[in-house]
Amino acid sequence: MNSVRPSEFDTAVARPALVDPFGRAISYLRVSVTDRCDFRCVYCMAENMSFLPKADVLSLEELDRLCSAFVARGVRKMRLTGGEPLVRRGIMTLVASLSRLLQSGDLDELTLTTNGSQLTKYAAELAAHGVRRINVSLDTLDADKFRAITRWGELDKVLAGIDAAQAAGLKIKINAVALKDVNEDEIAKLIEWAHGRGMDLTLIEVMPLGEIGEGRLEQYLPLSMVRARLAERYTLEDLDYRTGGPARYVRVAETGGKLGFITPMTHNFCESCNRVRVTCTGTLYMCLGQEDAADLRKPLRASESNELLFAAIDEAIGRKPKGHDFIIDRRHKRPALARHMSVTGG
Ligand code: SAM
Ligand code: SF4
Repeated sequence: MNSVRPSEFDTAVARPALVDPFGRAISYLRVSVTDRCDFRCVYCMAENMSFLPKADVLSLEELDRLCSAFVARGVRKMRLTGGEPLVRRGIMTLVASLSRLLQSGDLDELTLTTNGSQLTKYAAELAAHGVRRINVSLDTLDADKFRAITRWGELDKVLAGIDAAQAAGLKIKINAVALKDVNEDEIAKLIEWAHGRGMDLTLIEVMPLGEIGEGRLEQYLPLSMVRARLAERYTLEDLDYRTGGPARYVRVAETGGKLGFITPMTHNFCESCNRVRVTCTGTLYMCLGQEDAADLRKPLRASESNELLFAAIDEAIGRKPKGHDFIIDRRHKRPALARHMSVTGG
């Protein structure tokens, strides 16, 4: 892949930052680089998923151009996700190319969220390209449970990937989805393990995204309950640390580590939302919890200049909603949103 031509990322042309109708500056972009994955986690995908045809998916050059356009409009932090970002062919070419924005100081941070299965292969390269922190998703330390949750994954490979990432100097945050009757009795163990290795841990509530062939009610474990149980065992000290997202953090006094709670079903984070998401087809979602989206692929492909693209981005940010509409309850058995998490990448 050729790196992006200077005319496509021209910092000499001052462009206004992206600010939505509620005065929230958009400084964080999450980019799903593929809808494919080498796992089939039960809360994320059905076993038989159909994936997008290649022609619909943006090329690495197109993804680079799109990401660069957002950086030109004030995005300072970017996270690559998926599907599994590290199974996208040539992904390191994109990381290498985006690293120029880190070097130029136009981007503060390039990170990724991964299932960890490919980290033994890529950790050193990621670090060499300026990636400093990554999120690794891991819901259990029990190999059989891990296989049951991911359907296709192998715990050993992920643990080896985590070793490789730490050896490469990457800072790791572990993300674990709290699953009723599955890993709820293992959460203290996950905390001790992660904090013992110098990694933060964030617990995530199951979100109602996409048909997965299993009831959400069976999986849903409110984090308020998890937190109350943990508080009987540990001293949880509230931290002010905020990311602009739905996570709230505490310090576990006994381990010294940070523990996050992502409760997307609550609305208390929307007012500070600084992020938008773009899929591998160039669809921009202004809110994780709403259907409204804007097609950026058409303006991207329509012209070599970025003017149409900027206009489409401006128009879309102008419609960013105030908050989301997630509900899981007995009256709403269908997913609140038809798309899977692997489309927008969480
Ligand atoms: N494949 C990568 C991974 O697993 O980290 C990146 C994409 S994955 C969709 C991003 C995160 O979303 C993971 O931490 C995963 O556990 C979480 N996730 C997937 N489906 C979810 C759901 N329905 N509710 C809550 N979290 C979900
Ligand atoms: Fe793949 Fe991540 Fe979804 Fe699991 S959560 S199926 S690893 S995209």
